[in-house]
Amino acid sequence: MEEAAAHKRGTESDLLIVGAGAKAAAISAKIHVVNRLGYGPFSVTIVEKTEPAASWLGRNGMTSGEEPLAIPPIKDVGFPYRSRRQFGDVGDEIDAGLLPFTWQRYAVERGTYAAWVNRESPPVRHRDYGEYLGWVLERAREGIAHFHGRVSGVGLAPQGDCWEVEVAERGDPADPLRHRGRALILTGPGVHREFPSDPSIADRVFHCDSRRDEFARVPAQEEVEIAIVGGGESALSALVFLRAFRPRARLTVFTPTLPLSRGESFLENRVFADPDDVGWERLDLQTRRDFVKHCDRGVFDVGVLASIAGDGQCSFVTGRAVHVGAGEGAGVALEYEGADGVVAEPYDFVVNCTGFDLLAQVRGLFDEQLRAAVERLAGPLWDRPPQTEIPIGRALELVGMEPRLHIPGLGGLSQGPGFANLGSLGLLANRVLGPLLGPALGGAAGSASEQRKSVLID
Ligand SMILES: Cc1cc2nc3c(=O)[nH]c(=O)nc-3n(C[C@H](O)[C@H](O)[C@H](O)COP(=O)(O)OP(=O)(O)OC[C@H]3O[C@@H](n4cnc5c(N)ncnc54)[C@H](O)[C@@H]3O)c2cc1C
Repeated sequence: MEEAAAHKRGTESDLLIVGAGAKAAAISAKIHVVNRLGYGPFSVTIVEKTEPAASWLGRNGMTSGEEPLAIPPIKDVGFPYRSRRQFGDVGDEIDAGLLPFTWQRYAVERGTYAAWVNRESPPVRHRDYGEYLGWVLERAREGIAHFHGRVSGVGLAPQGDCWEVEVAERGDPADPLRHRGRALILTGPGVHREFPSDPSIADRVFHCDSRRDEFARVPAQEEVEIAIVGGGESALSALVFLRAFRPRARLTVFTPTLPLSRGESFLENRVFADPDDVGWERLDLQTRRDFVKHCDRGVFDVGVLASIAGDGQCSFVTGRAVHVGAGEGAGVALEYEGADGVVAEPYDFVVNCTGFDLLAQVRGLFDEQLRAAVERLAGPLWDRPPQTEIPIGRALELVGMEPRLHIPGLGGLSQGPGFANLGSLGLLANRVLGPLLGPALGGAAGSASEQRKSVLID
């Protein structure tokens, strides 16, 4: 009854999350546990345009669901389970309360755990991971309200003390539902980076966020040539998908530098799991940039590479794509800069996997007035000089902005590489929730352990 009324008038909550994905799952599991333990009540509203875990299930683009996840699923919504560092003794209680939300518990309930371990815990598919996230979101209910609809605009409430989102697609476009939150979290990878290409060949150019069913435009029975532009995870994901979807196609990956695989020993993993272990924030910008470049952006997963090693249909070329224009007949000409300068080569299709742009997505949600207000408080964002760091604080918030605006996906460089991906969802939730939970948990947030900056190897 109450929920039905809320559906009519919208909600007001402590936290408003756009997108019921991985980050929303981690945050709602933690809020659920904190409320169950009696430290609340805290309230969270999640608005999702498609379905829970939409990015991973294979029904909504970006992945067919069959591609392998590049992290082990035991890095689940609570990982790394060191909440003591943020919340002292209560942190241990919270981590214990999270155990029913683990990947292990999920697999045990499905009867798949023992077989998976016996097979030496192989990578899982995006789809499996999405189903796990959906299971978490379904169970984490204490204080959490879910709404279906596309957030079409973000603004500040008239008093300026909280955020307000407008939700389209609820029947009456003139009367969108509005939700308010004392803090706002924007999730998702963003939209594809601009790629210089002629509009006349738009139907021959795909992007990393193109829906997988759009690739049906590639003929199944012909030996087409496809160029995949990009040296990172989404290029590899597109390669794996196309290899299975169009086995007759020849696939060439263009990488701006010599292609590299991701370094993934305990040395790198500990930085993803908890950047404080290496005093991340005190490292100079170049050192942090180099780490992200070597371990996250622009590198390929070793396990996935193994699956295409020696495959005659796949090849790698070092060259930075500069433009795609109309080619001979129906094809395209891909111009790229390599050792011999700029050359053009014919392809039938091109896939732009040059990266995601989270700020472009935010630009689409914030009107000009709000963007100006945000930039007055937080400094230049959209037109900032290239190579400048985006000011993201410890709570993965835009520094200077009040009410708090959390954009964890932008925090990789400032706060640690795991916050831009799935590398440390439990810590991500603790960081985002720190300002909210801290006072209620006896001021433990931001305690000595949280501030610890020593360099440890464990
Ligand atoms: C194909 C692919 C593979 C990846 N593989 C890995 C991997 O193996 N390991 C890894 O660590 N990282 C991986 N990543 C990176 C991953 O996307 C990020 O980690 C991401 O930030 C995941 O968490 P999230 O909650 O932010 O986003 P998501 O899980 O993508 O959730 C965002 C949600 O927001 C919804 N949404 C978007 N716009 C709106 C709107 N306007 N209104 C309402 N809802 C909206 C979407 O439908 C979606 O459900 C991958 C990314 C892609 C695209």
